[in-house]
Amino acid sequence: MARPCSFCGVNAIFECPLCGRIVCERHYNATRGLCAGCIEALCDFCNKRLSIARCIYCGRLGCDVCLVQVDNVRRACRECLDRRALRLEEAWKSLEALKHLTLRMSRA
Ligand SMILES: [Zn+2]
Ligand SMILES: [Zn+2]
Ligand SMILES: [Zn+2]
Ligand SMILES: [Zn+2]
Repeated sequence: MARPCSFCGVNAIFECPLCGRIVCERHYNATRGLCAGCIEALCDFCNKRLSIARCIYCGRLGCDVCLVQVDNVRRACRECLDRRALRLEEAWKSLEALKHLTLRMSRA
């Protein structure tokens, strides 16, 4: 029983374990064990699950595990959120330093 590849229609010999599509040799990535469609739609961070959205900061595709919901519609990756939190902390520190400086200057 010959089944056609989901992408090009030639004889399919592999079945993608992630999406269940049947694909030919050309549309199957043996090293990753996934079909061409899944490779393209795969999460950029874990490379395991299908991506659901893009990070609003870096634009990379991520799955529901690797992306954190920022609000109703926007999602961001943990990397970007961490980086932003760090930047906020740095900004806060420099603000504190500035405050000390102006305090010292007004006392002098
Ligand atoms: Zn094919
Ligand atoms: Zn697939
Ligand atoms: Zn992921
Ligand atoms: Zn990001």
